[in-house]
Amino acid sequence: MEHILVACPHCKKVNRLPKKEEYKKAVCGFCKGDLLKNKPIEITSPEEFDEIVGKVSVPVVVDFWAEWCGPCLMFAPTFKKVAARYPLKANFLKVNTDRVREVAGRFGIRSIPTIAVLKNGREIDRVMGALPEFQFALWLDKIIGE
Ligand SMILES: [Zn+2]
Repeated sequence: MEHILVACPHCKKVNRLPKKEEYKKAVCGFCKGDLLKNKPIEITSPEEFDEIVGKVSVPVVVDFWAEWCGPCLMFAPTFKKVAARYPLKANFLKVNTDRVREVAGRFGIRSIPTIAVLKNGREIDRVMGALPEFQFALWLDKIIGE
């Protein structure tokens, strides 16, 4: 049977689940949180970022942001809303470029918000600026499919 590896949006631990077209119920094996209630995961260290990106099999969408950045704060609800549409299809990570500088540096982030999509640990696309929800969802759909 095929499996997927996906990080729990509640406790950040990576879960291994059988791959299905649709899930009626999926519970985290560690914290018992509902894996179908997808939300962005706030990254607090490079180690945590590497742990998740290195382990998961689903695409990873990273929002590089900072508290002083107006457009980033404007974009945050959009990122959250769209994350909720991809339970078990993608992990959504938030990287604060002031607090997790090492990761931002590695990706050569010069302007924020920057949204990058990774597959198997490698960046496959990115956009810059606070996209309207419709545009962001369209861009993501094209890359990770639904
Ligand atoms: Zn969990």
